[in-house]
Amino acid sequence: MSSDAPDSAADEAEEVAAAESTDEATAVEPTDGVAAAEAAAGDDADSHAARATAAAAEGDHLLSVEDVDAYYGQSHILRDLSMHVEEGEVCTLLGRNGAGKTTTLRSIAGARPPEVREGTIRFKGSDITDYSTEDISSLGISLVPEERRVFPNLSVEENLHLSDVARNWSNTFGRDVSMEHPGMSDDEVYEVFPRLEERRSQKAGTLSGGEQQMLAIARALKQDTDLLMLDEPYEGLAPQIIDTVEEAIEQIADAGTTILLVEQNAVAAMNIADRAYVIDQGEVVFAGGSEELRADEKTREQYLGV
Ligand code: ATP
Repeated sequence: MSSDAPDSAADEAEEVAAAESTDEATAVEPTDGVAAAEAAAGDDADSHAARATAAAAEGDHLLSVEDVDAYYGQSHILRDLSMHVEEGEVCTLLGRNGAGKTTTLRSIAGARPPEVREGTIRFKGSDITDYSTEDISSLGISLVPEERRVFPNLSVEENLHLSDVARNWSNTFGRDVSMEHPGMSDDEVYEVFPRLEERRSQKAGTLSGGEQQMLAIARALKQDTDLLMLDEPYEGLAPQIIDTVEEAIEQIADAGTTILLVEQNAVAAMNIADRAYVIDQGEVVFAGGSEELRADEKTREQYLGV
């Protein structure tokens, strides 16, 4: 984060609360984090792959992106893009630089720009195409953006509490913010990210890149999230740290949170994803299982360079 951070923690918390009720930060919000932590004990029959298969059999997608065309001004970025995410799965969206991955996530989260001029985005059966980011986040979609928004002058613990501040701030303005399904408690978050517990009093700005990524994901889990969208969580991380973040993502998924993972690191993404989409110039050029993509040398070479 930038050097324009406020001086005091109180000022900072207030700014964050304000920011999180607006377009930018509301991308980070709610799913069933508590259930997630409870299930973290791990039961094979309840693995994300098994649950995704069951959901697919029922035919109801958690998220459907249907024939979407999205633009930045006159630039036509997403072209008739369709994809879906099943409840309980880890789905990855891959593609080269500039393919339109972040634009897809922003379109789903209701962040503008881009403008979605055509097509429909449905979540849990509701048409959310024209919803605000606030409404989308309150339905249970969280986006952890590429730039890992943490507040450098606040401790790890204070960063985690900002979600509560934002929720209370919202309540003071009479918004319908449900407290019935809170996200993970601090203890549950620390179970997923023990490293953060060790550093709970440390200023976020002094954390390593990997630890900041963990904190950014942890902040999303503090809210009730059904679909966690991660934009390039492995970017700039050393292989060993990627392994740690990967394990945490798997733990979150096994505990019940559906994941949509955007990555440049296709090999790492395919390791944990049940299914994959590859996009190029805003169009889907591959949709299938991770195994299928791994075996599809032509697609990998042509669109992913691996
Ligand atoms: P990367 O992996 O490099 O982040 P990406 O697949 O996420 O790439 P996007 O960020 O979605 O790609 O960008 C898709 C295209 O849209 C690119 O050509 C990019 O230059 C353009 N673009 C992105 N944001 C804007 C914007 N705010 N205004 C205009 N064009 C934009």
